[in-house]
Amino acid sequence: MPALVDDIRVIREENPFESMMWRFDHAANLLNLDPDLYKVLRVPNREITVYIPVFMDDGHIEVFTGYRVQHNFARGPAKGGIRYAPDVTLDEVRALAAWMTWKCAVVNIPFGGAKGGIICDPAQMSQIELERLTRRYTAELIDFIGPERDVPAPDMNTNEQTMAWIMDTYSMHARQTVTAVVTGKPIDLSGSRGRREATGRGLLFVIDEAVKKLGMHPASTRVVVQGAGNVGSTAARLMHETGYKIVAMSDIHGGIYNDKGLDVPDLLNYQRIHRSFEKYPQAEPVSNMELLELDCEVLLPAATENQITSHNANRIKCKILAEGANGPTTAAADDILEQKGVFVIPDILANAGGVTCSYFEWVQDRMGYFWKEELVNERLQDIMVASFHDVCKYAESHNVNNRIAAYMLAIDRVAYITRVRGIYA
Ligand code: GLU
Repeated sequence: MPALVDDIRVIREENPFESMMWRFDHAANLLNLDPDLYKVLRVPNREITVYIPVFMDDGHIEVFTGYRVQHNFARGPAKGGIRYAPDVTLDEVRALAAWMTWKCAVVNIPFGGAKGGIICDPAQMSQIELERLTRRYTAELIDFIGPERDVPAPDMNTNEQTMAWIMDTYSMHARQTVTAVVTGKPIDLSGSRGRREATGRGLLFVIDEAVKKLGMHPASTRVVVQGAGNVGSTAARLMHETGYKIVAMSDIHGGIYNDKGLDVPDLLNYQRIHRSFEKYPQAEPVSNMELLELDCEVLLPAATENQITSHNANRIKCKILAEGANGPTTAAADDILEQKGVFVIPDILANAGGVTCSYFEWVQDRMGYFWKEELVNERLQDIMVASFHDVCKYAESHNVNNRIAAYMLAIDRVAYITRVRGIYA
């Protein structure tokens, strides 16, 4: 039997890696995972740290620290985004890499998991500094990434332009254009139609299924969205178009609330112009923490990790928690939410629309044949809806909550392939 940490108080609640491992251990134990396989799946395959010298615009050199953690390759090339942020840590990147492995397995796409991060403050850097940083980071990782090895994508503070630089740098070294080395590229540079919206659209698809399952209706479903990055703003816009009532939204500076519902296109336009929701006329101001505790049917955290913890989980009022961000809920909050009867759509299912469309992009690049947006969205819907029902069925038949069901389903799939492939020794 795997060695289980059986007291959740011993884990550091706000360490995403420990939160991830707590759930992994719990799911592995329920699966009766073979102790040898447990040892293999408990650790990442490879962790790379690089030090990246960059000429800053004033002529001095700054050395940045970057990571790429390649968690697992059993089901295919490693896959996962790269984030740029001042508070990136190796433990965070480790957790995010493992989540990619489980996420790709939950939606059953042929990838393993990886994640990258660079400790930097992109808001304080010029475009050309960011370009130099990205290119040198790519060059440092040149032997480790590639269409059949590890395929990066955007994550926090990286975007289509970042992916274009990575693709170009990799291609320069390979002496040929290799589009499938990254996903989330601009459409004109062999990106996929629908990729930019895919995470938000995937959230809409799984929330629609949950709403139907619980006998609710979009028009009377109040939605609170935390975060106005790509995921939060796209999800809010698409849900508004579908007839949901978005009652609150926030960005890093804070949020706004109107219980009668917000005009989302107008609000997003306001935020684009003012770079904040502050003083938006038809709403009350709320802080990011107050926003999580608002009365609503759907809470959609789409900002960052550790938002719902043992400190505030008791005060959460939603019926459905749809995790747009990776790791917004700590392991210590899981039990509290379960006792409250919150229907959780866990991150490794809820936000898997992004990587699913990345898979479509990788397929299209390798075919050299590009699909219409309707086809991309239809295939995305098929996968998200089927995966939602797979997780619900697993939860019901094993009498566990949705999060543990998603982990069990994913670990079972990765363990099965690992067993069939065997351990090369
Ligand atoms: N960064 C996204 C995620 O966390 C997308 C990863 C990808 O498309 O590879 O799922």
